[in-house]
Amino acid sequence: MSPAIQAPRGTFDVLPEDAARRDVVESNARRILTAAGYRRIETPAFEATELFARGVGEATDIVQKEMYTFTDPGGRSLTLRPEGTAPVCRAYLEHGMHKLPQPVKLWYLSSFFRAEAPQRGRYRQFWQIGAEVIGSARPETDAELIVLLHELLESLSIRATLAISSLGTPATRAHYREELKDYLLAHRDELSEEARGRIELNPMRAFDSVDPATRAVMERAPKLLDRLAPEDAEHFAEVRRLLDHAGLAYRVQPTLVRGLDYYTHTLFEFSSDALGAQSGLGGGGRYDGLLEQLGGPPTPACGWAAGVERMLLAGGELPIAPLLVDLYVAIAADDAVAAAFQLARDARRAGLSAQLELSRRTLRRQLAHADRLGARYVAIVAGEERSSLKEMDGGEQQELTTAEVIPAILRARALA
Ligand code: AMP
Repeated sequence: MSPAIQAPRGTFDVLPEDAARRDVVESNARRILTAAGYRRIETPAFEATELFARGVGEATDIVQKEMYTFTDPGGRSLTLRPEGTAPVCRAYLEHGMHKLPQPVKLWYLSSFFRAEAPQRGRYRQFWQIGAEVIGSARPETDAELIVLLHELLESLSIRATLAISSLGTPATRAHYREELKDYLLAHRDELSEEARGRIELNPMRAFDSVDPATRAVMERAPKLLDRLAPEDAEHFAEVRRLLDHAGLAYRVQPTLVRGLDYYTHTLFEFSSDALGAQSGLGGGGRYDGLLEQLGGPPTPACGWAAGVERMLLAGGELPIAPLLVDLYVAIAADDAVAAAFQLARDARRAGLSAQLELSRRTLRRQLAHADRLGARYVAIVAGEERSSLKEMDGGEQQELTTAEVIPAILRARALA
């Protein structure tokens, strides 16, 4: 016998008990986001590779080494989506959503694909819930998005901390980069070899260093947050004011970075200590330049994505509704199959949850099975004309015609 085939490394099966917990995450997200006027969008699992190269940024780790890219039979380069923002922006432009009343508020629950080294909380196919607001430059948009993600995490009993920052405009950032480079060059001798090697290409990464001497240098380094243009600083201050007003606790973290190139202005991230090394639950920010980068008109936008698996890892016990079985339809004789089959269908049409015996066990085993399922009633069908209806709790049994079974259950229910 050849060995059994297994799921690819870094992927997982969502088994029924996991699916029930996911349903809670999905229904909470749907309730919270729908109430705020966000509408669901789903985009294809794969896109033209160029969308991510242009959208996420050629220099990011995601585009450089984590994408599942393939050539289709027509010779086109396609990529399994590694994130959701660029596809949603592509859809906004492709469907002329700028003609709708602005801003357009969208949410999604989709799976994404990244060729990362698998570990707890990090997979090669994972699910994200995301929310995007396209067409508003106002700081209340940023604050509303943050509050909605906070609400989702709270609804799942997740204790998370919030870090926020602002990146300003690309021009401010470019200017700041030069200043930081000069500062790092002036302190070159105090830096770790790694930080020294990155001065030219990515000076901001020195803020991530774990080397004590480098950290000491970076504590005194100029911060981008202190270099924001007045209107950008005012935008950030207004976001903070609204968060304060909403009673949300947060930490301003000037060195916050995220792995996508498109962010401008506000940046935020929720994390949880319960997660270990992969502590990020979800985050996002403003991406005012992205739509233009994708070939659209200048359009301000802001959004977030939160990992479903991380939320499930960090979440407490979720209230999972047990599978209800109002009626179990047992089959007492070979010539009773059609009548039993019909009874199960009719019961479902009448609004009952009804399961039909599918294994043709002995009657004793059918009853034991119904009991294990927690069925309220069992109908033992002997034919069109003859059924016994047994109430599992009280043990009471009535002899009826099969047509009388459903009315009897509905009557008993109405009286209960
Ligand atoms: P990002 O799109 O990188 O900003 O990620 C947003 C959120 O998605 C993260 O905070 C995680 O919760 C989740 N996430 C990102 N990458 C993975 C992955 N490889 N496996 C599981 N969850 C992930």
